[in-house]
Amino acid sequence: MKRKVNLNEITAKEPLKVKTEIQPSVMNLPEEEISKASPFNLEVEIQKKPVGYQVKGHVSGDVELTCSRCMKKFTHHVEQDFDYKLMPTSEISGGEIKGSDLDIKFSDETVIDLAEVTEEQILLNLPVKPVCSEECEEVHYREWEEDREEKQIDRRWEKLKELQNKLKKE
Ligand SMILES: [Zn+2]
Repeated sequence: MKRKVNLNEITAKEPLKVKTEIQPSVMNLPEEEISKASPFNLEVEIQKKPVGYQVKGHVSGDVELTCSRCMKKFTHHVEQDFDYKLMPTSEISGGEIKGSDLDIKFSDETVIDLAEVTEEQILLNLPVKPVCSEECEEVHYREWEEDREEKQIDRRWEKLKELQNKLKKE
């Protein structure tokens, strides 16, 4: 199981390809969000460019999340492609970077920790509001709708009161 890649070992001729399994114990996942994680499969290809490196690949595995509505724990499958440029920090002020190049990461480290790469992709893939099932999602939506309607009714009552007060004064 390969965990670290030394960028200096990559030649311009041939990209480095790694296929490995990352154990959850070597990742630094936020415990309050992810209660458990399976070993993750990582495939990565790193290509040396005139400046920096192109890093692309795929991660897959399972994490256990807590439903934001019913608080039940459930399994969320992560299946994520990634593709970004790794640039030395000296390029930040180089003026070469255009606004459209959003998928750029700056780092001067010569060693890439594949556990960190995997961890980052998992975090990017987490739902903002995790829900365990479609039913839960529906209830969630319904509650939100009801809440909204109640507020609208309140507002109508207020208008009516205002009107009554006006009439009283006149
Ligand atoms: Zn739920």
